[in-house]
Amino acid sequence: MKKDLDWSSLGFGYIATDYRYSSKFKDGAWDEGQLITDSMITLSECAGVFQYAQTIFEGLKAYSTKDGHIVCFRPDLNAARMADSAKRLEMPVFPEDRFIDAVCQVVKANQDWVPPYGSGATLYIRPYMMGTNPVIGVKPANEYEFRVFATPVGPYFKGGAKPIVIKVSDFDRAAPHGTGHIKAGLNYAMSLHAIVTAHDEGFAENMYLDPESRTKVEETGGANFIFITKDGTLVTPKSDSILPSITRRSIMYVAEHYLGMKVEHRPVYFDEVKDFAECGLCGTAAVISPVGRIVNHDTVIDIPAGMEEMGPVTKKLYDTLTGIQMGSIEAPEGWIKKIC
Ligand SMILES: *Cc1c(COP(=O)(O)O)cnc(C)c1O
Repeated sequence: MKKDLDWSSLGFGYIATDYRYSSKFKDGAWDEGQLITDSMITLSECAGVFQYAQTIFEGLKAYSTKDGHIVCFRPDLNAARMADSAKRLEMPVFPEDRFIDAVCQVVKANQDWVPPYGSGATLYIRPYMMGTNPVIGVKPANEYEFRVFATPVGPYFKGGAKPIVIKVSDFDRAAPHGTGHIKAGLNYAMSLHAIVTAHDEGFAENMYLDPESRTKVEETGGANFIFITKDGTLVTPKSDSILPSITRRSIMYVAEHYLGMKVEHRPVYFDEVKDFAECGLCGTAAVISPVGRIVNHDTVIDIPAGMEEMGPVTKKLYDTLTGIQMGSIEAPEGWIKKIC
């Protein structure tokens, strides 16, 4: 039986669900892994995760479809990206097929927590991995735990019809060189000061510029940017130091193959932003959230389409993407993993 939650008023927060998955790596091998009920983790005070921040994560969602199934969206890409993150932080790769299996097990075991179709909420799934044994010299741990938990979530950006106003951050995101494209705690730790500063000043998020020249648009705290030109082209920043968003890659495909749009994946200069007709933030958590205003000190850029509601092109992209995710629009081969 579905849990008794007020699904449509959920925010983006953590609610402990009944089951999570755990697998441990020791003596060079992963154990069998299992579903467990304990949400707590007890570790050595000297564990690698606490000392040298050896921790990585992923984020994806499970959806209730129109016809009563539960599915998730392109989990193979999350598995592959987590493998990349693990390699970059000298952690063992959790096999990609086992990653998908673990995600499916957690969703199935917690199916009463999957928000119903049409509620506007979804089940957010958080796979993560950390170094667990004591490490005092600077080196990677040799024991790890891979976990997956799930929590029901509502929209990432609250406020209903309120436009999303962001600022150009005065801080560099400061992802250590070469880590911008992995999903790891260290990149987020270095962004927390910037996000708290932005929130304190009344902004919903930051627009980060490239730290070298501060002329190019990178991404926001946890989402990539998409822009729509006045003649309806989708433009999205290309950079080696932003996270390769699965949502963004999917939107690029949907724009081209479902909506027949022109798609440009290229460096985007901040100077161009004032000329775009629409601007959105895209990611698993943000889905596609329209941006209404971008502030850079004395310069205020209003994106007319984002002030009251989503711009028309953003709306088409949103409806097509979420239609694919929730089963009302046929998905490209291999995009939807049916769980139950
Ligand atoms: C997760 C994340 C995104 C969005 O990626 P998705 O795969 O679409 O969820 C964008 N930027 C950063 C920094 C992220 O961590």
